[in-house]
Amino acid sequence: MTSEAKKPSPTWCVLPWIHLFVGESGALRPCCMTLEDPAMVNRDEDGNPCLVYAPEGIEAAWNSGFMREMRRDMLAGRRPAACSRCFRDEDLGIRSHRHLSNTLFAKHRAEALQHTTPDGASPTELICSLDIRLGNRCNLKCRMCSPVSSRAMLSDYAALYDLARNDERLLKLAGIDWVAKPEFLHTFEACATRAERLHFSGGEPLLMPEMTSILEGLIERGQAPGIELHFVTNLTILPERMFELWVCFKSLGMVVSLDAIGALAEYIRYPLRWPEVDRNLKILDARAASINCNSLHLNVTVQVYNVLALDELVTYSVNELPHFGRPKLSLLYYPEAFNIQVLPPEVKQLASERLARLAKRLRAGWPGHWPAEETADLIGTIEGIIEHMNSADRSDLLPEFRRWTEILDASRGEDVQTAIPELSPLFDYE
Ligand code: SF4
Repeated sequence: MTSEAKKPSPTWCVLPWIHLFVGESGALRPCCMTLEDPAMVNRDEDGNPCLVYAPEGIEAAWNSGFMREMRRDMLAGRRPAACSRCFRDEDLGIRSHRHLSNTLFAKHRAEALQHTTPDGASPTELICSLDIRLGNRCNLKCRMCSPVSSRAMLSDYAALYDLARNDERLLKLAGIDWVAKPEFLHTFEACATRAERLHFSGGEPLLMPEMTSILEGLIERGQAPGIELHFVTNLTILPERMFELWVCFKSLGMVVSLDAIGALAEYIRYPLRWPEVDRNLKILDARAASINCNSLHLNVTVQVYNVLALDELVTYSVNELPHFGRPKLSLLYYPEAFNIQVLPPEVKQLASERLARLAKRLRAGWPGHWPAEETADLIGTIEGIIEHMNSADRSDLLPEFRRWTEILDASRGEDVQTAIPELSPLFDYE
């Protein structure tokens, strides 16, 4: 390759060279941002998804036609179809996962480019970051989730899509168990020997016995001190055993998925109990330094149910969680009926005003204890959310939003008009 060709292009992302992402089903994808499109799974020549627990390992999958084409696209300045989420965020002025990853792994850039063959192949030896979703065992059934990520949602999906309980697709999701397979553990151990960053999510990783044994194995093999560990958790539980294991690693990063506080948190993330999560958040905040936890954030899925209450959640994080960085606000695109573009103009107007007030407060220097670039990032994201919400009218999906809400309310014994009075007019049929 010429030196010119070795230069990263404007669409280049380091992840397809150094990062292994495993989805809940065990299928390989380029990264967590490519989950929204079911077609964007790494596939073999026969079109079958490449699986992390394949007996033959991941060598062939790492350089499948899918992966090689993605790398070639990136080197040529094209936007790979699988990466539409990142480029959509960037077009809104939001700092994308691609931007963050290229900054985080900048030191691997030269090596990645140097080892790429003209057809886009790259050696597995460069994999140094693993992001593994350990199946779909979860104790919550968040309204915007699906049985792919939480098997607790199976009955809700049966009702939403009028499926029989023994529907083949539901049964398949109920039986995800690859995390315990020796083939997975073999591949994981091989990749982990070179890992500098391990990221676990679920399902709910802190619930899973395999999570404990995976961490114990890394400690026993002497790898833990070289590994930055990261978790995405709903923090409904916080086992003491985890603190004993976490402290053995180089560092810990925690992202806590939370979309609101108090009763609204319980409404969106049923059957979450807010006093328990509030307590666990404060324990984690207070003990962060003792477990080398240098990165703590809330991750907020911005959707119809919480867009009016984001200021409240950010204020809670500032006031109650002093060791947490700025909350990460992630726009929801699926399910489409929960996209904030669905809301009527008067609700969008109210949400825009509240978000603009929040951005103004941040611009004025509040809260003061976050790094300047984090505050700037949050302001940019808030502006992107306002723009996204007002840039399209998807009120055609309001009937579907009402249908989902009413089915979920009925199955959980909840009532949207009580939980979010400001959305009451949307459900007032008189
Ligand atoms: S560009 Fe975005 S979606 Fe594509 S691999 Fe990089 S981070 Fe993932």
